[in-house]
Amino acid sequence: MGVDFVTTVRPMAQLIEELHKLPGIGPKNAQRLAYFLLHASEEQARALAEAIIAVKEKIIFCSVCQNITEVDPCAVCQDEQRDRSKICIVEKPLDILPLERTHGYNGLYHVLHGAISPMDGVGPEDLRIRELLARLQNNSVQEIILATNPNLEGEATAMYLQRLIAPLGIKVTRLARGLPFGSSLEYADEVTLTRALEGRQEI
Ligand SMILES: [Zn+2]
Repeated sequence: MGVDFVTTVRPMAQLIEELHKLPGIGPKNAQRLAYFLLHASEEQARALAEAIIAVKEKIIFCSVCQNITEVDPCAVCQDEQRDRSKICIVEKPLDILPLERTHGYNGLYHVLHGAISPMDGVGPEDLRIRELLARLQNNSVQEIILATNPNLEGEATAMYLQRLIAPLGIKVTRLARGLPFGSSLEYADEVTLTRALEGRQEI
C-alpha cells in the first residue's frame, strides 16, 4: 500500500486510525471507510458521529439484569407480566433479541457480557456473575436457563455456572442441542431456537 497524500492530512489520518481500532476493520477497510466518510454528506457524517456519542452518553446497564437500557431497571425487569421464577442467561445483549422473537419465553434475563475464555484472558471474575448471584438471594428464582453460545467458551461458561448454581437448590437447564456447534445465539433462526428452548434439559 503506497503512502497516499490524503491519508497524511491529519484529520484523515486520525479518522483512519480510529476506524482501524474497531473489531474486524483492517488498515485497508479503515481507509475505505474514511474515504467514504470524506465524501459523505455533512448530514450523514454528523448522524454517525451523534449515534456513537448517544450510545456512550445515554445507554446504561440495567442494575438488575445488566442488559443495556436507557432506563434503570430496564423494561423487561420492570414488566409485571414476566415470569420472575425463571432467568435466562446470555452472553451479550444482542442474544436476547432472537430469544424474544421466539415468543416462547416469558421469564427474565441476565447478561454476562462475555464468556469464560482462558485463551483471551477472560475469567469468571470478568463476567457479571456476582450480580447474578445477588439476584438468586431472595429464593424467588426456580430455574436458570443457560443460553450461552454453543461453542467452547459458551460451554465452559455453562459448566461453570451449573456448578455454581446447582448447589443453591435451583434447577439449572441448558438449551437443547440442535443449535449448530460453534455458532452464536445471535444468528440462530426462530424455529431452531424455539425447539432448543422447549427441549431444554436439566444439567
Ligand atoms: Zn433489566
